[in-house]
Amino acid sequence: MRYSHFVHDSTLDAMWREHFSGKPTLFASAPGRVNLIGEHTDYNEGFVFPAAIDRRTNALLRTTAGSFRVLSNQAGPSAQFFPGETVKGRNWARYAAACAKRLQDHTGETPPALEGVLNSHIPSGSGLSSSAALDLCFLTAWNELCRYGFTPKQLALMAAEADNLYVGVQSGIMDQMASALGEEGKALFIDTRSQEYWAHSLPPGIDIAILDTRKPRALAASAYNDRVRECKQAVDAIVLHDPAVKSLRDVTLDQVESAEMNEVVRKRARHVVSENARAIAFRDALESSNLPALGRLARESHESLRNDYEVSCRELDAMARAAWNAPGCVAARMTGAGFGGCCVALVVSDLYLEFEASVRASYGMYGYREPALFRTSAAQGGLAIILGNHSQELSSE
Ligand code: ADP
Ligand code: MG
Repeated sequence: MRYSHFVHDSTLDAMWREHFSGKPTLFASAPGRVNLIGEHTDYNEGFVFPAAIDRRTNALLRTTAGSFRVLSNQAGPSAQFFPGETVKGRNWARYAAACAKRLQDHTGETPPALEGVLNSHIPSGSGLSSSAALDLCFLTAWNELCRYGFTPKQLALMAAEADNLYVGVQSGIMDQMASALGEEGKALFIDTRSQEYWAHSLPPGIDIAILDTRKPRALAASAYNDRVRECKQAVDAIVLHDPAVKSLRDVTLDQVESAEMNEVVRKRARHVVSENARAIAFRDALESSNLPALGRLARESHESLRNDYEVSCRELDAMARAAWNAPGCVAARMTGAGFGGCCVALVVSDLYLEFEASVRASYGMYGYREPALFRTSAAQGGLAIILGNHSQELSSE
């Protein structure tokens, strides 16, 4: 089976031909993701609602007796290590090495080294989770090559564990679950407490727009840690009145308003509790194709992130406003941790070009850095295809 039936990537084919002789045995691919609603809820055991997007990281691979060695079109030196080792520092090999090590933990055997080429269509560092796509690309590849038989959900949880334990990033499970479990035309409602998920169809005739401010997220890491701490303080205050409360997931708005806590902590808790309710209402609005409700909820989410959670910035506010005023906009809000990065919008497909032109013009008035706007759709999650003997030739168009 030719992989181009699923995904065509002529750059990837050319990279293989340039760097390797013989044939790859496997094509692996995993998507980036965008969160539609449910922001800063995941570390409070709440709800998130991401969709995998049709921007993917693709790889052609085969096993090798030597070291792991994969060339990326987006990185200088190839990723090189022996499976079972961890890789320190900023080298992108740390993601693949972490996945190999976590597979070893789970299976009791060291996965074979891989060699090959990788090409990504996901902008890196914009909050679209190019890192989870990288993890899932390799985990899906190993799972297929070694016939481990892990489900996509198990691979997602393994990727999150690999990031936490061996890359050293405190990540929830949203990015990895979206990249592993995405379905075409659907978004995934995820309960981060139970790790259950449900795929919900997006309305027909609607595209997803990614509106990247390209503002570097300089403050994001320290502010993120502050928010995690403030959420915990809110729980500590509320648990005095209600010992059953384990996280903000269990809390009502009445409890947030009545418990004794400082006003900043109260605002943070109000965002998380109201955002969980909005995620549920957003799911219901999708089910009933209630487009005005989708729009209202996305806008309330943005305003709550700006006013109560204080993780927006001038650029994200300007971008959201530009989207709200543009033709064809169903819903728009900032997405991701904040302080830069992207807004997401649902846009009527027939009006997409007008939408984008209008956003570009209104946002352009502010004189911020040139944004990157693109159209995408909800896409299938990670996949790996063994390239058969008779039709293993690379697609060559
Ligand atoms: P995000 O996941 O939001 O894109 P992160 O900072 O979590 O941002 O992950 C970006 C990192 O992932 C990069 O610095 C790089 O180490 C790695 N990465 C992602 N895609 C690629 C790629 N195509 N080639 C090499 N490294 C990549
Ligand atoms: Mg990431």
